[in-house]
Amino acid sequence: MIENKVLHVADVQKNFAGLRALSDIDLTITEGKTHAIIGPNGAGKSTLLNVVVGRIIPDEGAVVFDGTVITGKKPYEINQLGIARVFQTPEIFNDLTLLQNVMVPAYAKRDGPLRLNVLTALDSDTDIRLAAEEILEDVGLADKRHADASAMSRGDKRRLELAMCLVQRPKLLLLDEPTAGMSRLDTNRTIDLLKKIKAGGMTKVIIEHDMHVVFSLADMVTVLAGGRIIAQGTPEEVRRDPKVQEAYLGG
Ligand code: ADP
Ligand code: MG
Repeated sequence: MIENKVLHVADVQKNFAGLRALSDIDLTITEGKTHAIIGPNGAGKSTLLNVVVGRIIPDEGAVVFDGTVITGKKPYEINQLGIARVFQTPEIFNDLTLLQNVMVPAYAKRDGPLRLNVLTALDSDTDIRLAAEEILEDVGLADKRHADASAMSRGDKRRLELAMCLVQRPKLLLLDEPTAGMSRLDTNRTIDLLKKIKAGGMTKVIIEHDMHVVFSLADMVTVLAGGRIIAQGTPEEVRRDPKVQEAYLGG
């Protein structure tokens, strides 16, 4: 079977005022796979995701998504092409209900940038409401759909944010530490949910500190340290790599 590249980060460099945040990053993500990016704090993991979603413009190099160069496109344009991203800190609308929170990105994906009267439009949009209710069911939040998002637990907030991405049916889902701050129970529920998504064939890139999560989910692992790729392979290969043990696992 020919493996299809969904994403190619090609020779990317990024400096922040003299600090080399990313050097010579060349990374390929294969369709349908779960690809983990691990590495110590400050390694450049979030910067790399920000480059992919268009929040940070690289100094050199390019990002190719599904055959299209996306470097220089605006974040919402990249999102519309089919890349969704779960942030390290959940970005949700506290004044809205859970259901409305999930409807907003579905609406933006279908109709483009939001208008001021979006809530009025949402109330009468049955298609989007049904899609949002289905996703809330999948992530285990259906019972709470009419509650205000402000009153949620941290674990529920992360699940809500995941639902806000899934409702867009992205070709590529990027997750920045999706289990950070979660209890072991919530972490395991998230692993199960991500396995279910994997069975559906969605390509995922996941930044993760928790090795239990990496080894439960990842097909491939890339290790970053000091802004460079220091190792790459299956979880087993990476675990055995002395460079990785030195830079990360032993640290
Ligand atoms: P990680 O997610 O692996 O912990 P980051 O990508 O957040 O690492 O950060 C990589 C390096 O770049 C760190 O040294 C961080 O302080 C620096 N950095 C990240 N974002 C910025 C920014 N917007 N301005 C200046 N420095 C930044
Ligand atoms: Mg980070």
